[in-house]
Amino acid sequence: MNSATQPLDEEWILDLFKDDGPFHAAMPGFEVRQEQLDMLRDTVRSFNEKKVALIEAGTGTGKSLAYLIPAIFFALRTNERVVISTHTIHLQEQLVAKDIPFIKKALGLDFKVVLAKGMGNYVCIRKMKDTLDELVLLDVNEAEALQHIESWSEKTTDGTKSDLPFHPSGALWEKIGAESDACSREKCPYYRECHFFKARKEAADAKILIVNHSLLFVDLAYRRETQNGILPDYARLVLDEAHNIEEIACEHLASKASIQGVIRNLSRLHVEGRGKPTGKLSQLLQKIISAYPGGVPESMQALITKLTIDVNGLRKETLTTLIDAFESFREFAENHQEKGKDKEEELSVKLRLLKTHHEKEAWNTVVSTHSKTFIDTGRRLIATLKGSLEDLGNLGSSQLLEATAGLRLDIEAVLGRLEGVLNFITQFLLPGIPENKVRWIESSDTKSLRDVRLVDAELDLANTLSSKLFNPLSSVLLCSATLTTDGDFKFAKRRLGLSEDFLDEKKLLEKVYLSPFSYENQALLLIPNDLPSPLEEGFLEHTSQILLESAIRSQGNAFFLFTSFGQMHRAYHLLKDKLHEKRLFPLIQGEFSRSELLNRFKNKERSILFGTDSFWEGVDVAGDALRLVVLVKLPFRVPGEPINEARRDEILKKGGDPFFEYALPSAIVKFKQGFGRLIRRKNDRGCILCLDKRIIQKGYGQSFLLSLPPVNKVIGSQKEVLDSMKAFYKKTYKYSKMA
Ligand code: SF4
Repeated sequence: MNSATQPLDEEWILDLFKDDGPFHAAMPGFEVRQEQLDMLRDTVRSFNEKKVALIEAGTGTGKSLAYLIPAIFFALRTNERVVISTHTIHLQEQLVAKDIPFIKKALGLDFKVVLAKGMGNYVCIRKMKDTLDELVLLDVNEAEALQHIESWSEKTTDGTKSDLPFHPSGALWEKIGAESDACSREKCPYYRECHFFKARKEAADAKILIVNHSLLFVDLAYRRETQNGILPDYARLVLDEAHNIEEIACEHLASKASIQGVIRNLSRLHVEGRGKPTGKLSQLLQKIISAYPGGVPESMQALITKLTIDVNGLRKETLTTLIDAFESFREFAENHQEKGKDKEEELSVKLRLLKTHHEKEAWNTVVSTHSKTFIDTGRRLIATLKGSLEDLGNLGSSQLLEATAGLRLDIEAVLGRLEGVLNFITQFLLPGIPENKVRWIESSDTKSLRDVRLVDAELDLANTLSSKLFNPLSSVLLCSATLTTDGDFKFAKRRLGLSEDFLDEKKLLEKVYLSPFSYENQALLLIPNDLPSPLEEGFLEHTSQILLESAIRSQGNAFFLFTSFGQMHRAYHLLKDKLHEKRLFPLIQGEFSRSELLNRFKNKERSILFGTDSFWEGVDVAGDALRLVVLVKLPFRVPGEPINEARRDEILKKGGDPFFEYALPSAIVKFKQGFGRLIRRKNDRGCILCLDKRIIQKGYGQSFLLSLPPVNKVIGSQKEVLDSMKAFYKKTYKYSKMA
């Protein structure tokens, strides 16, 4: 047996963790936890025995080392790459900048690790050069930024926008970012120096390839369509932060079209910028005209007329009919949205399409007619412009063709995308939604932008995930601090395609490791029992006093976590001035970017962060910077979300109970995530305040409580709860000034 086929030696790897082993030598005080060693054994087993391991490891287990070390030894021994996928940048950074360098140093190993990013993150040198040629057409700021990017592009070893010392505008990046459909690959004159293809080569050589879940599922979607991957082929996968992969997979495997996306795409052809037209069409015309300084020959006149009159006219008509079509979708959704629903996000409309909607007159007349007009006009634009490009290919000199090669590629990419949208809408209009699909129309209005999106998503991803990932791959490890609900993996297995209907039971390994933290000493869970139910009118007004009082007790350094933007904003406006009066500093999600908001929160004592959905998870604020987390409501999914409603109906159809089989376990996973924000290290201390009394009054409330690690609880009146909080902080922090 050669070494490449020999199994990993579990005992030998575990010996590395002994007191006289290399990890202790490399880091005095290196802490080993039994849970970590046990998880490492599971990882070794999953690699050796080609298993799918489903592991819940509580915060502080040290799970990243527990999977990295076997993954690295496996990759080195077999020469097979291992892909590690995470949800958050924070974890990617931890793996790349901290954990892997530590392992390399401690074990004296040298191997290639690559952090793979999506193509759109890289600057495309060809597009950048083309845009530089038209510098005069850009506004002053864009032109200046582009010149900086050009000199950066010559020095950068990375080539992605996150390596730039400034944030380029979205509009500029659209002009110069790499795109698969505007890339001629080996035929591109810049192929050898192309940042994206260099990175791809690096990724192909990497032993450990780090990606995020979005890229992993974009790759999966791409493989499904084209048989080719964006990532190099792989057979071994580790999915960390695996608790939300169903949602991420659903988002990336869905087909979509949005009015703003189509407008952006069409504006690449032509846009009126400050009186001077810019865009690929005007650039193409300019190039043709300037190729004939003595006057454009007659043979080319017809082409110029076609581009100026016909194509331009069709482009305008396509834009007008696009707006009519999407506006008719929006109006239809607005008129058919269920009335009396708790519309917390008043400015957004979401309508799940049902069979009955296809029978409505408005669908068959207004929506269908406008959409078909748009489809027809769009197709005529594509045909006419493609015809013009063909004419150019036949009539243009070789110099002209060379000079316009990039432009023609960009125009073809625009047309390819438009064609994709037209095909999608054609399907979207058809009655008879396939069994495993859910379709919806959604529109959102902000002060500056109205967007309308059409979405066609897979209702149940169990089959796709098991057939595309878990069954074909040799081994997969899924881990997270929150995968079980009510003490088992039933929910995660069913949703992800890991139950016996989809995966051979013998291939699955399930383990739960509790957090090594002592929640009983480190945290206190407080539940007032005299607040109204969150379903009652005036709940927020009633809670505002205890929110304020709790922030005073903790002296800020608190997260107030909500389940909807509407509630978050209302609470913020109710409390903002009162908090300032107490020298507490409120921050609200949306005020700055997520990372900026977190930086401000961490760096300013007495801050209070009002956050929703994304702040319930993936946020790591260790130490005294966070000493209070308030969970305002149990995080049941917002009613009216088409995908959730469709999942609920599907369970009902099969005779199940959607509340206990879907709504409750999803909420428990989220609740555990929210709870988990508080204690990140073994010295962290703090309180969790849950303002939703359903957790103690409803039968299902126990399921939330039983899903938490053992923690002391105080259930009582608001006064009792606040007194207990005060006593906890006094004892813990010994702050004489604690209120
Ligand atoms: S190879 Fe593709 S991505 Fe790279 S510079 Fe050329 S066109 Fe751009």
